[in-house]
Amino acid sequence: MNVARLAVRPSVLARRAEGTPNVASRQQPLKSPSRFLQLPHGSPVADCCPRFFSTSSALCCENRRTPASADTSGTKTETSQDRYSTALRLNKEWAAQTAKEHPDLFPTLANGQQPQILWLGCSDSRCPETSLLGLKPGDVFVHRNIANIMHPGDLSSGAVIEFAVQHLRVQHVVVCGHTSCGGVAAAMGNKQLGILDPWLLPLRQVRQRNLSLLQSLPPEEAATKLVELNVREGMDVVKQKGVVLNAILERGLQVHGLIYDVGSGVLRELDTEDSEEAIKARLTAFATEA
Ligand SMILES: [Zn+2]
Repeated sequence: MNVARLAVRPSVLARRAEGTPNVASRQQPLKSPSRFLQLPHGSPVADCCPRFFSTSSALCCENRRTPASADTSGTKTETSQDRYSTALRLNKEWAAQTAKEHPDLFPTLANGQQPQILWLGCSDSRCPETSLLGLKPGDVFVHRNIANIMHPGDLSSGAVIEFAVQHLRVQHVVVCGHTSCGGVAAAMGNKQLGILDPWLLPLRQVRQRNLSLLQSLPPEEAATKLVELNVREGMDVVKQKGVVLNAILERGLQVHGLIYDVGSGVLRELDTEDSEEAIKARLTAFATEA
């Protein structure tokens, strides 16, 4: 086996759709907006889910806010039902405009898909992968869950990864975390969260293994560091899957780690190149044959 090909090179993800700006940047500093973690109790957002407030308000509150609370123009305020109706109307406008600008797109997509990117990201409403990449329908195959956690035994993400790698033959697998992640904030706290507790377990394990480092940092930096560590953990899980190992060996599949800054819209690419020793160990432990 060609061990050298298992090395995951720095991404060429910046390969872009025509006319769109480069989204991958190593230079952009990350500043995690902390508004979701600093809202005072008694605010409308804090009242909507006080149980989550101190550690993960972004997890449950973001989508409950309506334009009514932010509208100071004196115009007619929009209810959540209005927003749904508006969305359906906007869809018709978007479909018509897209068909006008790209006449072949929808007829081509009706016959199948050939995405080159598999995106494994967080469910957060602020991280719509196709939009933030400046791409179009058909460009990105997607699995998103709370805090972009890659559970080794998760059937859902496992099926998505296998289908994308083995059948769609994507060229790039992206594990993307983001700043101000409510799931990460929850894992940094110690409140009981019901069904979220087993879901967040891998995040807490990463927290445990890196406790000294995280405790040495200011809270906001510690949260962003845990986002990064979680991405690296997720990449390890992805690269331990036989179908991914084979695709790396046989056709140079690349696995990337990104962090999306919700406060600026900019992606930062992590340096995730594996050492030769790590590559050999992974291959020894996880490569399988039929
Ligand atoms: Zn998140």
